[in-house]
Amino acid sequence: MSLKKVLIVNRTFPKAGLDLLHNKFEVSVLPYLDYHPEMLPEVEKNIQGVDALIWNTKHRLSKELLDLAGPQLKAITTMASGVDHIDVDEVAKRGIPLGNTLHSLDNAVADITVGLLLGAARGFKAGIRELESGDWKFGVQWRLGQDVAGSTVGLVGLGGIGQAVVRRLKGFDVAKFIYSGRSDKPEAKSLGAERVSLDQLLRESDFVILSCPLTAETKHIINADSLKLMKSTSVLINIGRGGLVNQEALYNALKEGHIFAAGLDVVTPEPLPKDHPLVTLPNCLILPHLGSATHKTRDSMAITSAQNILRALDGKSMVYPVC
Ligand code: NAP
Repeated sequence: MSLKKVLIVNRTFPKAGLDLLHNKFEVSVLPYLDYHPEMLPEVEKNIQGVDALIWNTKHRLSKELLDLAGPQLKAITTMASGVDHIDVDEVAKRGIPLGNTLHSLDNAVADITVGLLLGAARGFKAGIRELESGDWKFGVQWRLGQDVAGSTVGLVGLGGIGQAVVRRLKGFDVAKFIYSGRSDKPEAKSLGAERVSLDQLLRESDFVILSCPLTAETKHIINADSLKLMKSTSVLINIGRGGLVNQEALYNALKEGHIFAAGLDVVTPEPLPKDHPLVTLPNCLILPHLGSATHKTRDSMAITSAQNILRALDGKSMVYPVC
């Protein structure tokens, strides 16, 4: 009997995940990176007739690609928590199990969130720029930032990552945690976080953390109007997706001092051009989407993706099913 075919899109899929699949399936790894011009044509060529897909890429898994794959496709997983690059409705319509790697990356992304929060609140970017350009000033009023102790931290989305952020920030003597979302989170009670409306969260928070998925409902959840609700001393952190923020409105708010600073792990587009207006701002600290980028976390994500496929092709529920 011939082995089932698993296609892994993107050559960087870690060996820890590959090891679980080899010998059990006929595994092909596309030997390209996302920005390689051959990537999409090669996906189109290789997706035909596969039984399972590890969609380890930022490209969109569209209806057209699912059509090309064919009706034998029985399992799809991302190597990510977000699924905004996948036509989830179309996958669900076809009854194909779809999984992600939820929770494998909570700690790594929460670490980056706290790093960004401290870096943006304390003006790391402006300070480092002055140091590197030989403009290092000093004095009691030089480069003053915002305190985390005693602050109110608001999380837009208290999922796996949001909860890991709260656990970390508890050690920083935050006065109050609030969150917004579509439903009450049972974990909120033990974390000491209170659910409020988005408007209340924006008005009251000293730190606003975007830790929710990008959906039709959350696109540009931060825009010119919502930024006006925020305190002039507040700091915006985005580790969700670039599309959660209207970047032109954010640029204006940072430039005009309507909010104090921003720390972004995710932007639109990625990679962001080096002369993008947000890059020019001293109070906008940007990281190149480093959230889950640690050796251990990426291995763990690959293992979870492989387990999703192993389980689905065995007729079982995935480790982290999306639909
Ligand atoms: P998760 O565990 O599924 O949590 C997402 C949370 O967002 C849920 O609690 C959900 O609450 C909430 N949410 C959904 N719609 C919302 C809305 N309209 N307003 C406020 N909250 C809303 O996912 P996660 O692992 O924490 O990841 C969250 C997002 O972070 C991912 O979707 C992904 O885009 C991003 N991410 C980024 C990185 C990075 O490297 N920077 C890494 C991983 C993930 P309900 O249950 O009430 O809907």
